Amino acid sequence: MEQGAAATGSRRLLRRLRDVMAGSGTAQQRLDTIVRLIAADVVAEVCSAYIMRAGEVLELFASEGLRPEAVHHTRLRVGEGLVGAIAANARPLALADAQSHPDFAYRPETGEEIYQSLMGVPILRSGRVLGVLVVQNRTRRNYSDDEVEALQTIAMVLAELAASGDLVSPIELQPSNGIGLLPLRLDGIRLNSGLAMGIAVMHEPRIVVHQVVAEDPETELARLRHAVSAMQSAIDALLAASDMAASGEHRDILETYRMFAEDRGWLNRITEAIRSGLTAEAAVQKVQDDTRVRMSQITDPYLRERLADLEDLANRLQQHLAGRETSAADSELPEEFVLVARSMGPAELLDYDRRCLKALVLEEGSPTAHVAVVARALDIPVVGRVRDAVARIDAGDPVVVDGFEAQVFIRPGEDIQQAVEANIETRRMQREAYAVVRTQPAISLDRVPINLHLNGGLLIDLPHLDETGASGIGLYRTELPFMIRSSFPTVEQQTAIYRRVLEQAGDRPVTFRTLDIGGDKLLPYLPKLEDENPAMGWRAIRIALDRPAMLRHQLRALIRAAEGRELRVKFPMVAEVAELEQARAILDMEIERAKRSGAGMPAAVKVGVMLEVPALLWQLPALLRRLDFLSVGTNDLVQFLFACDRGNPRLAERYDALSPAVLGLLRQLSSTCAEYGVPISLCGEMAGDPLDAMALIGIGFRTLSMAPASIGPVKTMIRSVHLGPLEQFMAGLLDRPDHSLRPYLRAFAQDHGIVV
Ligand code: PEP
Ligand code: MG
Repeated sequence: MEQGAAATGSRRLLRRLRDVMAGSGTAQQRLDTIVRLIAADVVAEVCSAYIMRAGEVLELFASEGLRPEAVHHTRLRVGEGLVGAIAANARPLALADAQSHPDFAYRPETGEEIYQSLMGVPILRSGRVLGVLVVQNRTRRNYSDDEVEALQTIAMVLAELAASGDLVSPIELQPSNGIGLLPLRLDGIRLNSGLAMGIAVMHEPRIVVHQVVAEDPETELARLRHAVSAMQSAIDALLAASDMAASGEHRDILETYRMFAEDRGWLNRITEAIRSGLTAEAAVQKVQDDTRVRMSQITDPYLRERLADLEDLANRLQQHLAGRETSAADSELPEEFVLVARSMGPAELLDYDRRCLKALVLEEGSPTAHVAVVARALDIPVVGRVRDAVARIDAGDPVVVDGFEAQVFIRPGEDIQQAVEANIETRRMQREAYAVVRTQPAISLDRVPINLHLNGGLLIDLPHLDETGASGIGLYRTELPFMIRSSFPTVEQQTAIYRRVLEQAGDRPVTFRTLDIGGDKLLPYLPKLEDENPAMGWRAIRIALDRPAMLRHQLRALIRAAEGRELRVKFPMVAEVAELEQARAILDMEIERAKRSGAGMPAAVKVGVMLEVPALLWQLPALLRRLDFLSVGTNDLVQFLFACDRGNPRLAERYDALSPAVLGLLRQLSSTCAEYGVPISLCGEMAGDPLDAMALIGIGFRTLSMAPASIGPVKTMIRSVHLGPLEQFMAGLLDRPDHSLRPYLRAFAQDHGIVV
């Protein structure tokens, strides 16, 4: 009831503001009237509008309540004072005691010292801050969330005036003002490596909302319903498209998407905004602005991605409301283009012609974002978190995207363009050279064969088996399919995934690692863990043993999928033999269960562990007697061995995997495994570096598992080495006192013509 009254009140004010906007008088006069009306309506002694000017300065443009002489004199930089903080964070503030806030910046000319409470919201338009709207009260006042919401709605009306170019000159409104057409380099983070060049195309499906205040909420609600159902049908159609149906992960991502499209909470918020007096477009925009604000506050990568999906969806909904379903994807595009977007959903990326799309630049994004997963599958370089990319890149600009160094060159000079062209050509030739070794064996000059396996975890990785000529999958990270879904996959869904992996691998072996979640690998549908040190926290086998149902379901699916062939399964992060025993007991239970049910069984079951926790090194005899194979996960093992967080950039150079300690340990491990007749492989990142891989085969490793792109370079190294002399050289090397043996190994390679 009360809510209904609030909505009616809000609608009344919005209409009055709209009438003022449409009425006579200069823009300044209209703004003066507006702040007066707002102050009266929200019962505040002060209402002020600050407008953004060139150079990121907020100028007091109109005020009811502050001293008139302060208007057009008081200026705050973005980030300065409470008003500047609201603009910098694009986030509302509501403070009962504003003056004791650490950001408070007192401006004597305003006379504001007598006002105790302050509520302010950004004036936003298409995601950009155009100003700040503030109300102040003399007495202490606790502004409610509803009041903040209402002020945000009012600010949307003001955004129209601020963007009109009548208050400040249109030139000042240009975000890239002053930057001109000089070459420019922007830095970001690497979301997918690679190097590409093309003409900038702005993705920009966002629509600028011109009509903010609605005539009739019922008409707007009907328009919303119509647009939502049109959007849902369009997503269904995309899902049904034949080439989507073929690629498993893309489909899963779109399913997640459909779920959001039906999300009641999201739609309810839009509906509420319409009831408060906004048009359907303005309501979607408002909820989108809120989403963006939430996104800026959230550090959890998975939640951020879900919110990015919502943003994508809101863009689509805007298209449907506008009665056009088009994005840049539908227009005529350059033959080779680089797509630039603030954020983007996976479905939107798939709208573009894959042959012409050369790279992607995003202002948002994280390596595990769905859009990055899809871009990796399309094999295009992606640089994310590029600040102001949309404002600073113009459509038609030539752009170079360096996904290796996470850099974007805009309007690059002749020299950079030439260097990039040469680099792209070299890489193409390199790829061709690797393609030549694809069918040749990975065998040393003195005829010692080495097994090269792939690390993977998505169906999209499987074609690499053929492309690279790898002899199997040494590490299938089962958590990846879990990470891109919106809910826990059922036994049936898991069985289907594992079956497809095995089918596509043909007669090549696949080693499945059971779920390694926790640490930096979070599942969107599991509660976030509050581990202080996640890498050493509740993860991998620890979760599996504490929540055995999850492991049982996974093993059940693996047993079913491997019917009639060998099942190879390994457990991650095992710290002691007792843990292996527990996991093994669960596996045996599932095998018994499958037998009892009369289901077809795997031809054999081989069990291994990932050696990642140093404690296990002191139980090798007991461990190896119980194992069919051992995999060394050096990514984790090395960080635990040196007590050195691998994610800490300050320590990045501190310890080297090619140190006497690590290589000595690995050599001993490899010879103990040989003694016990247990095959050993290594699947950490070092296996994929030609020099590191050379050191590993020099101390006895014969099976290495690595990312697809590393197979060519590592095989080329193997085919250029005489293993005998290398082994001899390494035997004398490990007692050295050096921090790293890398320089000796590099010199050896150089002296012996080994391609590293
Ligand atoms: C490792 O730790 O070396 C490993 C291969 O596992 P992940 O990188 O998946 O933790
Ligand atoms: Mg690991």
